Amino acid sequence: MELTFEAFRENAGRVRGRVAEVCARAGRAPTEVEVLPVTKTHPAAAAAFAARLGFHAVGENRVQEAAAKRAEFEADAAAQPLRWELIGHLQSNKARLAAARFDRVQSVDGAKLLRELDKASAALGKTLPVLLQVNAGRDPANFGAEPEAAPALLEQALACAHLRVEGLMTLAPLDGGNAAARRCFANLREIRDRLARDFGAALPVLSMGMSGDLDEAVAEGSTLVRVGTALFGSR
Ligand SMILES: *Cc1c(COP(=O)(O)O)cnc(C)c1O
Repeated sequence: MELTFEAFRENAGRVRGRVAEVCARAGRAPTEVEVLPVTKTHPAAAAAFAARLGFHAVGENRVQEAAAKRAEFEADAAAQPLRWELIGHLQSNKARLAAARFDRVQSVDGAKLLRELDKASAALGKTLPVLLQVNAGRDPANFGAEPEAAPALLEQALACAHLRVEGLMTLAPLDGGNAAARRCFANLREIRDRLARDFGAALPVLSMGMSGDLDEAVAEGSTLVRVGTALFGSR
């Protein structure tokens, strides 16, 4: 990896500064927003940097890549505890490996995947935290349940004894620009508020915003921004 720890520390300071600035404008406390460093395509050293700077979790978008990286990271005796979160699309046939290797899956978008993750978590004797991915920007190029399908998906998720639904996740439309991103994030927050009310469920986590649209996301209530490029450089 080209990046030095010092450069990473500076990048992290800039990202946290941006989050704090938008929070101040929006009347939010910066402690409401967690930054999740996204280490996909980067080596295990990137995760080690994140842990060393005090981040508690990292995000990865491919199961096998993350499993190998996590094993390498944990083989280092000095490794600090770090949670690993899956943020990329997950196929049902990889649910078992995902349930075993991740501490939370953010990209749950269908009934079959829910069933497979629940079954796998039961076999592992664990309760797996999950987020439901909703295509709040209605981008045909994005994964996620359609907004209309979200209530049924939540109902199914709440019935899974070995999953714990902590909130929702979305990706802004890929080429809609920042205005479309902001509408998408506002929509996800409204969907969350409605679901929380209708189901009497606490859905505290709103995972939305990446390097290019984190200002819009934080302004619209994001509690978790997933940041790769702004921390580790371009991939
Ligand atoms: C890669 C990725 C990110 C981070 O993107 P950057 O633009 O590099 O910050 C966030 N969320 C998901 C789902 C990703 O796949």
